[in-house]
Amino acid sequence: MEALTTIVEQQRQFFHDGKTKNPKFRKEQLKTFLKTLKENEQLLIDAAWKDLHKSEFETYATELGLVYGEIEYAIRKVQKWAKPKNVITNLPNLPGSSFIKPEPLGNCLVIGAWNYPYLLTLGPVIGAMAAGNTVLLKPSEIAPSCSAALAKILNAAFDPGYFYVLEGGIAETQALLKHKFDTIFFTGSTRVGKIIYKAAAENLTPVTLELGGKSPCIVDQDAAIKVAARRIAWGKFINAGQVCIAPDYLLVHKNVKDLLIEKIKEYLIQFYGEDPQQSPDYVRIGSRPNFEKLKSLIDPAKVYYGGQSDEKDLYIAPTILNNVSWEDKVMQEEVFGPVLPVLVFDDFMETIALLKKLPKPLALYYFGHNKGKQNLILNELSFGGGTINDVVMHISNPGLPFGGVGNSGFGSYHGKKGFETFSHHKSIMKRADWIDLPLKYPPYSTGKLNVIKKLL
Ligand code: NAD
Repeated sequence: MEALTTIVEQQRQFFHDGKTKNPKFRKEQLKTFLKTLKENEQLLIDAAWKDLHKSEFETYATELGLVYGEIEYAIRKVQKWAKPKNVITNLPNLPGSSFIKPEPLGNCLVIGAWNYPYLLTLGPVIGAMAAGNTVLLKPSEIAPSCSAALAKILNAAFDPGYFYVLEGGIAETQALLKHKFDTIFFTGSTRVGKIIYKAAAENLTPVTLELGGKSPCIVDQDAAIKVAARRIAWGKFINAGQVCIAPDYLLVHKNVKDLLIEKIKEYLIQFYGEDPQQSPDYVRIGSRPNFEKLKSLIDPAKVYYGGQSDEKDLYIAPTILNNVSWEDKVMQEEVFGPVLPVLVFDDFMETIALLKKLPKPLALYYFGHNKGKQNLILNELSFGGGTINDVVMHISNPGLPFGGVGNSGFGSYHGKKGFETFSHHKSIMKRADWIDLPLKYPPYSTGKLNVIKKLL
């Protein structure tokens, strides 16, 4: 772990030297970042195939393409974002001026998850770089080829004092957490999120926690069922369901449940064929423990479609579980895999009341056209973010900050929000000194108090 200490010290020195304060420097680094990724795109695509059986299409469309877009956006905006923003100066402080000056937090630690081994590791780095920080990135050991590919190409392209990819697992993460950082950005489970938060508290280090949870997908009886089925079949089974914002379970109005699950099944066959194990587009489970867990969540008596698995290949078929109840094992923890439990509801308001009592999820989806019900969902329920009449898509708009609330985490990023998350917003007032009213100075008097009462 000596090498680790050296890197941390190097990064501290690099930040201290002040180069990253210059927005032009940041812009140049973002350009290098983009160029490096693009030049090594095939290596990254091959690594995702090796680790997760992830197709070139998915690696591009759901990871690299989004990362490129975000970097390009940051390149265009970074100089504007970095400028001080004037704000109004209130009457008692006139004559004077006030502004907010964004400044980098300093040395950042980014700890990533394996399910989107590029998007979830590189995404936060964009905001950190744009805001003028140094970055130590620890990708997940569960996607080892992706982690190695990132380390190889990025460590060759950047000064390690500025940006370094440190590979490793739990031991390395724990060693990292012994060091003091100026912020820690963590993506992963709620369980490990608590470990990170506790370690960060030792140094009063601010953290962003991008965690998970059980994200409900409600389908009402007035929904466009065919479109809903196609969108759910895609959003639940893309990346074999290992998506933090995948619909975890369906809550379907009882009148449309049979039609909905029949259509989801039809679309799954259209997408992945009669034997999804043979499909080049169907992803594998990231790790053996997750494979075992998912197998244990499949109750054979409730399988409506799928249910097959192959341990050698870490394959779990797209699976729909019908007639599921809140007491079933699959409803006790986040699924994080290609198993879709289906529950029904009859009374909309009862459903809302029930969801209100559950931990706040990372995402929530509602299919239905009634504006009143849509608003009820948005007003009554707390969740990280969501999409109406679709699933997952809100993550793809950089104009929408992405993050959780409550058990699903706190803090957010994407687009300008990423820059803000990695910045301190320094509030400054400049005062004129050609005048100095005696009002605030002792000795106080009733007259002075009356003026203060009018001014404040
Ligand atoms: P994880 O929490 O097991 O691992 C994430 C990271 O933490 C890895 O880099 C790992 O090395 C490290 N880690 C693991 N155990 C540790 C320990 N005991 N001490 C210190 N570090 C440790 O998560 P995962 O399995 O990679 O991902 C699955 C979870 O992450 C799901 O709950 C999912 O919903 C969530 N997730 C959230 C988002 C999001 O953006 N909010 C994205 C992807 C995944």
